[in-house]
Amino acid sequence: MQLVLQQEVNIMLLENKVALVTGGTSGIGRATVIAFGAAGAKVVFSGRREAEGEATAAMIRDTGAECLFVRSDVSSETDIKALIEKTVASYGRLDFAFNNAGFGRPPKPLHEQSVEDFDNMMATNLRGVFLCMKYEIQQMLTQGAGVIINNSSVAGLIAVPGSGPYTASKHAVMGLTRSAALDYAKQGIRINAVNPGYIRTEIVTPNSFQEMGVTLEQFESMVSSSVPMGRMGQPEEIAATVVFLCSDAASYITGQSFAIDGGLMAG
Ligand code: NAP
Repeated sequence: MQLVLQQEVNIMLLENKVALVTGGTSGIGRATVIAFGAAGAKVVFSGRREAEGEATAAMIRDTGAECLFVRSDVSSETDIKALIEKTVASYGRLDFAFNNAGFGRPPKPLHEQSVEDFDNMMATNLRGVFLCMKYEIQQMLTQGAGVIINNSSVAGLIAVPGSGPYTASKHAVMGLTRSAALDYAKQGIRINAVNPGYIRTEIVTPNSFQEMGVTLEQFESMVSSSVPMGRMGQPEEIAATVVFLCSDAASYITGQSFAIDGGLMAG
């Protein structure tokens, strides 16, 4: 009995493992960098904002965890190749990757969306995930093991009005996830996705409400009436699921996606 309990306690520990988080300079990514560190992993994380990257790194080192910030843009193949190389050069391997970097835009009918905005969104939200998976998998194949989690959205499961490009990019992330899960299931690489609902991060700042033409109060009242649990989620609630999916507790899970949305998708 004691042995069983011991296993239950240790099953989520990621000691001696190496984790990579893209878009770790704020929000869900930053919370996941902290969660990986708390679980005992060494963490490499990326983003384009240097000051936020170094501030996050200092925050994590204060907890006693080991981490490395690498400035990089997920839409650049050169940057992503270098990011994976730097991870392996620094820590010797890559066990887990959370492909999280992405952004949304205030809603607008499709015919008013510019081609430039569409291309920029696809470059980050879709091409970024593809590039990361391509180079992460190359490394994981040499190890014969690895876990990848892609950050989609509830917009990867249902359509969000006024968000055609975002919805398309997040549905596409689901396709990449499922297809790659099949490709590498026999080679020790598990690939899953998470679908956050309304999570309180920098994506939902007073500025973003202004751009949407609503106040924070109006947005919160909309959330409490549409989300069964009646509140927004916290970045840490996504991070906890990512750590679980990377751990041995999820050793038989691949090609799946997890809505972390306070019950939104159940209705
Ligand atoms: P956030 O705080 O704005 O974080 C976005 C992160 O992505 C930042 O660290 C940002 O870093 C990074 N990023 C954006 N473009 C990048 C690029 N081209 N190259 C590298 N890094 C880039 O927002 P968040 O809510 O945590 O969003 C994280 C992910 O969750 C996104 O994929 C988003 O679509 C998804 N999501 C969020 C919600 C929500 O309600 N918050 C719901 C569903 C899904 P830099 O600016 O430093 O580059």
